[in-house]
Amino acid sequence: MDYLVETIVLGIDSIIFITCIRNYYKNKNAMTMIQGAPYLNINNDLKEIILTHPDKKLSYVAIRGMVKPLGKPIISNNNVGVQGVVQLLRIKEHVIQRSTTGFWNDSERVIQEVHNIMPFSLETKGIEVEIIDPLAADILDMDVISDVFDPTVPTVMDHIWGFFAGIRQRGIQKTEKMLRKGTMITGIGELVYSRDGNMLQLQPPTNGTPFYLTNMQVTSLVKKLENSKRNYRWLCLLFGAIGIVVGGLIIRKYLKHRAKLIQEAEIKKQLEESRRERRKKTRTKDFGDNQMCVVCKTNPIEIILLPCGHVCLCEDCSAGIQDFCPVCRTIIERKSVAYVA
Ligand SMILES: [Zn+2]
Ligand SMILES: [Zn+2]
Repeated sequence: MDYLVETIVLGIDSIIFITCIRNYYKNKNAMTMIQGAPYLNINNDLKEIILTHPDKKLSYVAIRGMVKPLGKPIISNNNVGVQGVVQLLRIKEHVIQRSTTGFWNDSERVIQEVHNIMPFSLETKGIEVEIIDPLAADILDMDVISDVFDPTVPTVMDHIWGFFAGIRQRGIQKTEKMLRKGTMITGIGELVYSRDGNMLQLQPPTNGTPFYLTNMQVTSLVKKLENSKRNYRWLCLLFGAIGIVVGGLIIRKYLKHRAKLIQEAEIKKQLEESRRERRKKTRTKDFGDNQMCVVCKTNPIEIILLPCGHVCLCEDCSAGIQDFCPVCRTIIERKSVAYVA
């Protein structure tokens, strides 16, 4: 019985389904958390508010301010006029690859990715909140400063090699992104006082709720999460339905298989029955004592017991004797029809 294809399909489907469910709830919980997070203006009152809270911390708040470097900003590699506080440099290779199905697919892989960070704060009218560990943010919006694709010009050898190797380079993409100085961003996270007590800091929440540094307003962020949640819900329904269908097919196949086995056993039993009847009818009436079944003493001997080799039972009695040979007490391993001429 072969359930291999169905099992593989069901396995892949389950993995996708579970991932969708997880993302759905992740978005749902994030939405609830953000909607429950107070939006606070960065001003002198903020310091007062935080001091009234236990542990001098607010576990989840939203603030909005302008990005201000604490020190010398990072200068863009591709545009000297651009200054920022977080820089991402990424080199990607684009290839055409022959998949296991034999088709050629576009795919890409990151060859190198570097982040440079400079301490920075969000500022409003001279009041600052330092941002801690910006790379830990679930969303960190940055501007694309430069995005260049250098196509590879293949030689004849490259074509031949690519055909046999099943992979051909299309080109190299170099991207630079930056969180620019002066950008207005919304930060959602845990608000605390720095260790020395001089500075307010926004950091990734210690309770595991998502940390956001985005140029969106809170309402846009909620809308984005809502859309994402809705998409995951549809995907959950789709892959859930596929799972049910495939599961149904497996059950149907199993039941069919079982019904077939039962039917086969039934036919075998009937054949056995009719054979026994036939043998009963053709039994000779006149036979000597040594050709008589040792149990019932009426029917002729018809069955040989193995491995001892005794032919001492009729078919009817042999059905009731499973363990030991009635003559020599040897364990019965096998029985077979014997023809005594
Ligand atoms: Zn008998
Ligand atoms: Zn025996």
